[in-house]
Parts: sequence; structure tokens; C-alpha cells
Amino acid sequence: MTDNQAISIVRGADWVLCEERGAGAPEAIFGAECASCGEQSPLFDDDSLPVAVWSLHHTAGNPEHARFLFRTEKHWRVVRRPEAGEAGGGGGRASPVAGFLDRAAGPAFVGLMCLLTALSGLLPVLTTH
Ligand SMILES: [Zn+2]
Repeated sequence: MTDNQAISIVRGADWVLCEERGAGAPEAIFGAECASCGEQSPLFDDDSLPVAVWSLHHTAGNPEHARFLFRTEKHWRVVRRPEAGEAGGGGGRASPVAGFLDRAAGPAFVGLMCLLTALSGLLPVLTTH
């Protein structure tokens, strides 16, 4: 896990969602919020221990404040899917219509059309017994 730049979480037609692993991006950000008064701890990168210490100090100062909402946050990034085999004119695309729509209306529309096409393929399955 040291050399990988990004781990793919979700792949769409033209976009890939991955964890942000760029310079300065922590693996996780930790924080807590008191359930009684709403006071929030500072946020800490890559280490939950300071949040636990903050929670203990908060309860020590306010003995009835003993429940906390603990949060872990991560940075995500959506990037364009790497072009694979498309340089020669649609090697990766299934239909010339999709290629035309890609030029005319953009990748998001083509992604939607691919989704609709996939869904319409399900309709006969759903309507016949
Ligand atoms: Zn509190």
C-alpha cells in the first residue's frame, strides 16, 4: 500500500472515484463531538489517540458529558478514467452512436445513456415471467 497512488472505490463509465492519496492528504481525519453540549474536539490527521484524550478530559471537566460522536473522515477524488484503447477511434466504446454523443454532448451524457441502455436491457427480464 505504499506505491499505489489511488485505490479505486467506484468506477463509472468515464469517471473513477478513489481515495485521495496526494501529497499532504491524510489517510483519515479523526474528531469527536460531545453528545450533551455539542462541543467538538480539534481534528487530528491519522491518529485517533488525541481525540480519545480530548474526550476523557471533556468528561473529567463535565462528569455528566460521557457520550461522544466519533468521526472518521477521508478525502476522495473523482478522476477521469484512464483512456485505454480509445486512441484509434473508439476501441473501448461499443457503439459509434456513443462516440458521436460523446463529441456532441459530453461524457456525462454518454454515461447516462450507457446506464439507460443497461436498464432497458433489464426490462424484458422484468416483464416476462
Ligand atoms: Zn460536553
